[in-house]
Amino acid sequence: MEDVVMGAQNHYPVVIVGAGPAGIAAATLLGQYGIECLILDRWADVYPQPRAVHLDDEVYRIVERLGVGEEFASISRPGLGLRLLDTTRGLLAEFHRDPTRSRHGHPESNMFDQPEFEALLRRNLKRHPSVTLRGDSEVTGMSDLAGGRTRVSFTDRGDGSQHVVDCDYLLGCDGANSMVRRHIGATMRDLRFEQRWLVVDVDSAVDLHQWGGVHQLCDPRRAGTFMQVKDSRYRWEFRLLPGESAGDFATLPALRPLIAPWLGAVPDADLRVIRVAEYTFRAQVADRWRRGNIFLLGDAAHLTPPFIGQGMGAGLRDAMNLSWKLAGVLRGRLPRDVLDTYQKERKPHARSMIGLALIVGYSMTAGGRAGAAVRRVIAPRMHRIPGLATTVTASGTPPLSRGALVQRRFGRGQLAGSLCPNAMTDTGRRVDSLFGNGFAVVTTVEPDPGDRAMVEGRGALLHYAAPGTVLADWLHRAGTPAAIVRPDHTVMRAGSLRELCRAVPAF
Ligand SMILES: Cc1cc2nc3c(=O)[nH]c(=O)nc-3n(C[C@H](O)[C@H](O)[C@H](O)COP(=O)(O)OP(=O)(O)OC[C@H]3O[C@@H](n4cnc5c(N)ncnc54)[C@H](O)[C@@H]3O)c2cc1C
Repeated sequence: MEDVVMGAQNHYPVVIVGAGPAGIAAATLLGQYGIECLILDRWADVYPQPRAVHLDDEVYRIVERLGVGEEFASISRPGLGLRLLDTTRGLLAEFHRDPTRSRHGHPESNMFDQPEFEALLRRNLKRHPSVTLRGDSEVTGMSDLAGGRTRVSFTDRGDGSQHVVDCDYLLGCDGANSMVRRHIGATMRDLRFEQRWLVVDVDSAVDLHQWGGVHQLCDPRRAGTFMQVKDSRYRWEFRLLPGESAGDFATLPALRPLIAPWLGAVPDADLRVIRVAEYTFRAQVADRWRRGNIFLLGDAAHLTPPFIGQGMGAGLRDAMNLSWKLAGVLRGRLPRDVLDTYQKERKPHARSMIGLALIVGYSMTAGGRAGAAVRRVIAPRMHRIPGLATTVTASGTPPLSRGALVQRRFGRGQLAGSLCPNAMTDTGRRVDSLFGNGFAVVTTVEPDPGDRAMVEGRGALLHYAAPGTVLADWLHRAGTPAAIVRPDHTVMRAGSLRELCRAVPAF
């Protein structure tokens, strides 16, 4: 029998294992709805090593929803997109992103430092009194209880004491080696991509005068990536050759031949190596993301090779997708079966983004005649492949799959599953700020008091988009007079105002 300490509070509606970006985002969003949750992580502080450096404008909307949009702007810089370069660094293809264009109210491409971003998220979490973050707490096991509840065991790494806590819902945000994933019997489906890469972060006060986007060097002998992350921070990634390891590049003299093409005459004395690390990039998706009241989010559910900078973003999308549904169920506003839509919506989306990352990955690394053909013939035309250019660099990602909360029909129902633009409205506020964290009905047909009463009676907002506004044009282009927008900014259903007033869920 374990010597177990029951904490001051031994039951929470939600326990989250893992306080990386996915876990903190889920906790923050649940906290916004006042849901009590405990988040456990084995480390006292954020994981200090740089990993993610890029997020797109769709994900930026989530960052803003978390409450740190302005602060994120101060720790990030807009990027100019993606260039595929040949072995001599000649241009094969460019996917330009306009830092000033903002369908979603934010730059289309944003460069940042993950530990700095995570520190920001953790500071922000303190604004939510219903959330308790407990660091230095290693989760050691979990067991199923009656009624779908789960008992979580953890060890305080400071004093070695052992604890248990029970919860109604458990979120596994515990990263690539997820223990929660093992507990629910899920396994990763391998999408047959595994490469060892060297990741190099360098600080330099000297401007390297390089193009301000992501440079992808398509070289089957040694593919590489370069980008400026922030004013003085630069990131290189290189594929490791068989027999090589990070140790071979631990010093600046050993590293210099690899990074020299981007350095010009900058002397070693002006370069400070922050980190040289080896990572194995994988493409994997868990076969199931849920068992009963236990869900997987983030790297626990999917691994995306970082070539299009979408892995962490996928975890934030998971948190955004699940949190309002779970809050709705816990507050008794939504039926429990809305939780079935989480995997149904998120898994195909994540799978499709991994597919895009693989196309870019293969165009950088594939050898032989097939690889040469990809680079010579396909890469320069990639911007013409429908959906690819917009998704690789203009960040319009695929619509969510149909289901109870994405009611897509033929004809004018086509908007369902896609994001409502975060347009400026005639109230002087953008959509996300105006619509808040509930449902909204947006309409080009002037509502009568009865429509308004019905929508507002369900806790939703009714917004009239006057002729000539961005939202009115968006609805006109889709051939529909109105749409229901969910709390995660996704269109649930398009159709006539009268029909939508009756269909908007009470939340
Ligand atoms: C080199 C590199 C570059 C990348 N570039 C990008 C990019 O540009 N853009 C992008 O979007 N993504 C990128 N990614 C991916 C991104 O870093 C990850 O997808 C993201 O960190 C995953 O977040 P997460 O919260 O799911 O998991 P993690 O960040 O792995 O967090 C999991 C947390 O769970 C905790 N934990 C695990 N097990 C336990 C346990 N038993 N008990 C208690 N706590 C536990 C861990 O301590 C950790 O804090 C990159 C990754 C790499 C390696």
